[in-house]
Amino acid sequence: MDVGSKFPQMQTTIFTEMGLLAREHKAINLGQGFPNFEPHPYLFERYHYYLTNGHNQYAPMMGVSALRDQIVKLHKRTYGVKLNKHDEITITSGATEGVFCAISALIGSGDEIIMFDPAFDSYVPNVELNGGVAVHVELDDHYRIDWNRVADKITDKTKAILINTPHNPCGTTLTESDLDSLWNIIENKNIFIISDEVYQHIIFDGHKHLSPFNDVRMRDRTLAVSSFGKTFHVTGWKVGYVVASKELSAELRKIHQYITFCTHPASQMAIADMMEKFPNYYADMAKDYTERRDFFAKGLNEIGLKTYPVEGSYFQMIDYSPFSTESDKEFAIKLTKEGKVTGIPISVFYETPPQCTVLRFCFAKTYEVLEESVTYLDKYLNK
Ligand code: GLN
Repeated sequence: MDVGSKFPQMQTTIFTEMGLLAREHKAINLGQGFPNFEPHPYLFERYHYYLTNGHNQYAPMMGVSALRDQIVKLHKRTYGVKLNKHDEITITSGATEGVFCAISALIGSGDEIIMFDPAFDSYVPNVELNGGVAVHVELDDHYRIDWNRVADKITDKTKAILINTPHNPCGTTLTESDLDSLWNIIENKNIFIISDEVYQHIIFDGHKHLSPFNDVRMRDRTLAVSSFGKTFHVTGWKVGYVVASKELSAELRKIHQYITFCTHPASQMAIADMMEKFPNYYADMAKDYTERRDFFAKGLNEIGLKTYPVEGSYFQMIDYSPFSTESDKEFAIKLTKEGKVTGIPISVFYETPPQCTVLRFCFAKTYEVLEESVTYLDKYLNK
């Protein structure tokens, strides 16, 4: 039988590839982004309660009411924007589903969507599954958006621009001036925005999370995707959400209802209780990650690795050029096998992979693991 693969060129995601390699070679896995520490015990307590108290059947398609109430409160408190819980919030089975539904809701055959390289690896397949065309714009040397390059790529077919702030893998965040430039480009055109904001609460050094959804000029054009997995250290629970106007949410829900229909109810209920009980959780979590970031970067610098600034996210990009000129993919594989530390090569996130010597490490790890990683790197690089 000839399956007639729809995507003959598509490879297994780099996170799975590097994760398997790390396991095979017993390397410390700083590749795929997930915390290696447990979430707050209260979250487990509430989860257990809901599992054993009748929350095991389908949840409402748009998400449980209690969680949407908490999102309304959080959004108001954090950004001063009042959401309508009925029409503007949809809980999804992780942000990855949210991004897929947002892209599917907007992009049809031949539609173009602009995205920025390095770009998270699910974006292009999501666009192509919908018959759309991914138009790539490379970030500049500081991993920021050059809006002149964006303006050059706008055509009659441009349907949307996909942004990501804080940015994975680069850790950069959008500024007020970025939002102004974005608005200038789309103001007189029928162009929408998908904004991947899954690291919005993991933001450092007084940087403010700026979403086009919270900007009154762009609210009715934006689908903003968020994640609870990152915020509450439960990436495996796969609970995310999308905020958008009533009209855009209705389009998104047309897709969501036939993909997963709804998201695991006990997880949603437990997260809602957690949000109610610990309103200061977000600030504490950001502070905690600031300390881990600084501890890790200091260790990396001391052994001679160059680190890029991280304004948000739990990823640290490093430049290993003082030690090797090998391509990042080759280096990442060798480092896993011989150095016993796994990172993600960033060239895989480009349409045209650049020659670069940059890896991404996840620092959502215990101090012991961060310290051990630096020791292993030192032993390997400075032997
Ligand atoms: N968001 C995670 C990361 O960037 C990976 C998610 C996945 O494995 N698909 O590491």
